[in-house]
Amino acid sequence: MDLALLEAELRARGEPPFRARQVWSWIARGAKGYEQMTDLPVGLRGELASSVPLSTLTVVRQDEARDRTVKTLFRTRDGHPVEAVLMRYRDGRRSICVSSQSGCPLTCTFCATGAMQFRRNLTGWEIIDQALHFRRFETVDHCVFMGMGEPMLNFDHVLDAARRLPDLGITHRRTTISTIGWLPGLQRFVDEVAEPIRLALSLHAADPTLRSTIMPVNDRYPLPDVLAECVRYFRLRRRRVFVEYVMLAGVNDRVEQARELAALLDPQVFKVNLIPYNPTGMYDGSSRKAIDAFKHVLDRARIPVTVRLTRGRDIAAACGQLATSG
Ligand code: SAH
Repeated sequence: MDLALLEAELRARGEPPFRARQVWSWIARGAKGYEQMTDLPVGLRGELASSVPLSTLTVVRQDEARDRTVKTLFRTRDGHPVEAVLMRYRDGRRSICVSSQSGCPLTCTFCATGAMQFRRNLTGWEIIDQALHFRRFETVDHCVFMGMGEPMLNFDHVLDAARRLPDLGITHRRTTISTIGWLPGLQRFVDEVAEPIRLALSLHAADPTLRSTIMPVNDRYPLPDVLAECVRYFRLRRRRVFVEYVMLAGVNDRVEQARELAALLDPQVFKVNLIPYNPTGMYDGSSRKAIDAFKHVLDRARIPVTVRLTRGRDIAAACGQLATSG
């Protein structure tokens, strides 16, 4: 829902300012149409229905995985593809994964999104409309900015969207923004965002040469500078930073590489999430044994570490699998 358009339409009709807030509060609670907004005059409901679309995105297709993960492909008004995912956990948690860009200009070798053409940054409304889509069929309580794109390259719009999430029932503490370590955005995140939004860093290799090979962005913003910024975030916010580490067989999963990683990370500041690789063509995923051995090294170094539960692989909805040819 483009609230700026809504406000302009309401103003043009001489409606009082509180009308926009009324409409937004219905939308944020998952209203499926203006006809449900019973505290608006009937005539106005009809007029808005024809002048302000409920969403800035249209749904192109939606798939549900065997584990009940849902992946939705949307299209923007100007025809760009956007994907978002709803993850349903057994304990009742409902987590959504949203995209910040259509495609991604960065070229991490293990990620499918990096291989598709970069289209553009999404607007704040296009981001929040992904969340609202899922909110319309069930309550949602967590949001990760881990879909297509690099959130820190679209800082303002990502923040606009993140700041609206509590209206949908997703608190800041349950919102996580993930970055490859794009420093200009990360610095702004640390300096400007007072809300307790969580931070995740895609690290994937402690060794600089290897990291540059699989994540070319490392040449531009070297890991030590990025980690220093994460430490600054921790000092200011007292919130641990999640480190994401995708396990690639024979590439970054050796026990020595776990030691290198442990040496880089202050156990007070970081928490590691090992991610089983979801096939995108280039690599093989690490074996369960290799993941366990890697985890063991971090455990011994007293660095909190978990292995990410893989969701939605059978519909290519898992981490790193979001890409469309559209
Ligand atoms: N660009 C941001 C936001 C995307 S988050 C970032 O990279 O942090 C998506 C997460 O999934 C990142 O940690 C990314 O490195 C990881 N990922 C990418 N490709 C993957 C794959 N094939 N298997 C598992 N995880 C992958």
